[in-house]
Amino acid sequence: MTVVAFLGLGNMGGPMAANLVKAGHTVHGYDPAPAALDTATAAGVRATASALEATASAEVVVTMLPSGGHLLDCYAAILPGLAPGTLLIDCSTVAVPDARAAAELARTAGHVPVDAPVSGGVGGARAGTLTFMVGGGPDGVDRAAPLLAEMGSRTVHCGEPGAGQAAKICNNMVLGVTMIAVSEAFVLGRALGLTDQALFDVAATSSAQCWSLTSYCPVPGPVPTSPANQDYAGGFASGLMLKDLRLAHDAATGTGVDTVLGASAAGLYARFVDLDGPGRDFSAIVTAVRDRLLAGDREDQR
Ligand code: NAD
Repeated sequence: MTVVAFLGLGNMGGPMAANLVKAGHTVHGYDPAPAALDTATAAGVRATASALEATASAEVVVTMLPSGGHLLDCYAAILPGLAPGTLLIDCSTVAVPDARAAAELARTAGHVPVDAPVSGGVGGARAGTLTFMVGGGPDGVDRAAPLLAEMGSRTVHCGEPGAGQAAKICNNMVLGVTMIAVSEAFVLGRALGLTDQALFDVAATSSAQCWSLTSYCPVPGPVPTSPANQDYAGGFASGLMLKDLRLAHDAATGTGVDTVLGASAAGLYARFVDLDGPGRDFSAIVTAVRDRLLAGDREDQR
């Protein structure tokens, strides 16, 4: 049994903390949103009134926060009060430089940081089937492994601090681009008189095969579990896809890499979120392709 502080009990952090409780750990949770704290408390998390209170007796601190700014502010507040050698696992999606800066702050204060962003969404967080992409030294990675195994089904050690975040944004850049490509193909297929099922039956077993098509098909019908069959409710929100594409775009700009399709996808999702809001599943972009709402300056609409 480990005493864990869990900071950020939202859509992802709440069920992840609940899985640590189920695994037998004592979890002290903090979230400034009362509703998030109440839901986590109902799942057995011990509510606290501040991040400092939550971390006071923690052996491990897990963070699941909205952004790198939140993470750096949080670390600045809690690091001085932690017991020496505390393991810090950040599962938020943040920019690679922010992840490296947070790791450096933690190491300088005498603690052991890892970045461990996730793939698998809210469903994976609830089911305990997340994939963790981990960056950090071997000591932190080894210590984090048992806890990550209680919140997920797969962990990949990607390299030094920040490497987990690097893998996350590269992966999600591909996801954003392929979702737009698959959406365009279905709209074009319809315009040519193809049924969605006929295109799916060919593409799913041909060279267009990809996760956006076969696991998460953006049109209703061919994949009954995809959010398209529930009017794009739930799933992975467009606003979060836009966040990740922007992180990838900033990383590309910072490293001088020319990600033309990634930048284009960021622009198209920015336009989609403007029109549709950030809440629907990101595969709903097919509706904007169909209704020809994404036209305009495609250079960079951020
Ligand atoms: P969320 O907005 O539901 O939860 C974030 C929570 O952090 C909120 O409840 C907020 O009140 C809380 N918070 C803010 N500042 C805090 C602080 N200083 N201390 C403690 N709590 C604080 O967001 P989410 O969907 O749970 O996503 C969390 C992270 O996971 C994000 O970085 C997101 O990009 C990433 N992510 C989300 C998904 C998804 O499907 N939702 C999938 C993969 C990765």
